[in-house]
Amino acid sequence: MSKKIILTEKDMPKAWYNIQADLPKPLPPVIHPGTGKPIGPDDLAPLFPMSLIMQEVSQERWIDIPEPIQDVYKIWRPSPLVRAERWEKALDTPAKIYFKWEGQSPPGSHKPNTSVAQAFFNKEAGVKRITTETGAGQWGSALAFACNLFNIECKVYMVRISYDQKPYRRLMMETWGAKCIPSPSTETAAGQAILAENPDSPGSLGIAISEAVEEAAKRDDTKYALGSVLNHVMLHQTVLGLETKKQMEIAGDYPDIIIGCAGGGSNFAGLMLPFARDKIVDGKKIKILGVEPCACPTMTRGLYRYDFGDTACTTPLLKMHTLGHAFIPAPIHAGGLRYHGMAPIICHLLELGIIEAEAYHQNACFDAAISFSRAEGHIMAPETSHAVKAAMDAALECKKTGESKVILFNASGHGHFDMSSYQKYFENALEDYEYPEEELKKALKTLPNIDA
Ligand SMILES: *Cc1c(COP(=O)(O)O)cnc(C)c1O
Repeated sequence: MSKKIILTEKDMPKAWYNIQADLPKPLPPVIHPGTGKPIGPDDLAPLFPMSLIMQEVSQERWIDIPEPIQDVYKIWRPSPLVRAERWEKALDTPAKIYFKWEGQSPPGSHKPNTSVAQAFFNKEAGVKRITTETGAGQWGSALAFACNLFNIECKVYMVRISYDQKPYRRLMMETWGAKCIPSPSTETAAGQAILAENPDSPGSLGIAISEAVEEAAKRDDTKYALGSVLNHVMLHQTVLGLETKKQMEIAGDYPDIIIGCAGGGSNFAGLMLPFARDKIVDGKKIKILGVEPCACPTMTRGLYRYDFGDTACTTPLLKMHTLGHAFIPAPIHAGGLRYHGMAPIICHLLELGIIEAEAYHQNACFDAAISFSRAEGHIMAPETSHAVKAAMDAALECKKTGESKVILFNASGHGHFDMSSYQKYFENALEDYEYPEEELKKALKTLPNIDA
């Protein structure tokens, strides 16, 4: 019998938590690629409204969630925390396993926690249009959902291969009124340059970012939105971790291990940052684990260096674990985990030893996700299956040692639009890719020569 711990609307967080207020060492500055000097708020003004830029650099511990955002959150928040007792039983483990269920938002993942906030702050600043990129389509659909609610035009550059393979995600965006086009496209200089070299380019997240940024930079009525990586995105996602903290209190437990899958780091950050504060400030003993695919091993094999966020080298430089901005990942099914970089906040905490990272192959992740679905029912996104696998390993370790640890993981989204990847798995047609050392060396040679 699995137990749901449900909060009422009046228990919802009224402010987001900003880890920058509690970091033992400040984040490294964001660097301007031209000057090699730290950028100021004005450098970002063509892309983002000033309110979001100020959140990006804020040192305030708590940032109020405006009421219109709370109102939209109420469509699906607060989300349940579930004690997975059926799965515990199936695994025959003495561990207690909890998962935070973010799959019940309209777009089906944690992503609207930030898309709604970003759409609101853009609207408040008078912005008429927002451009963005999307890989598997989850971020594009989350932004389309949010822009529709705040009456903003939304244009999504979708990585070509996903555009062709995932028509339903595109149709979701269109249902909410957004325009979705395949990237590389002929609508931007960045897209044209890629197509001139390779007319059949399958695209990549880095290329799509270049296109969306280029369009926002050259039009006065248009800004850009990013679904992960940046500090303000991590901030907005803490709404889910703050809810979880209250729910764990109600359950009478405190996590020994906290797990999240990590593509750009936002769902992992959202869950763990409020607990990381307990670790930093109160010395709590918690293992905090980010999980990534072996095919895109940013935290476990990337270098901690300054790099561009996109392929065309147009963004400011972020200090992060990176596989190089020229990195083109193998076609694994966890599309949301195929980014060359990682959130600077996550990387900083990794360097400080506050969090840890591990990489898994996709077949093992699907094994775990199926074990979970057969016990708990929910069908996980391929991204989420990485967190499920880590939770299962931790639970099986407890079975060996007899310890009844409390394991908490973030169930970042459902897999209802990813059933073709489940089909491949059932047909034994899923490949496990190890990212080749040679490719890694080649991609890392392209890093800009900055070390601040
Ligand atoms: C986008 C996505 C991810 C990866 O992005 P993060 O910023 O690392 O959270 C993970 N799970 C789901 C369901 C997603 O849609």
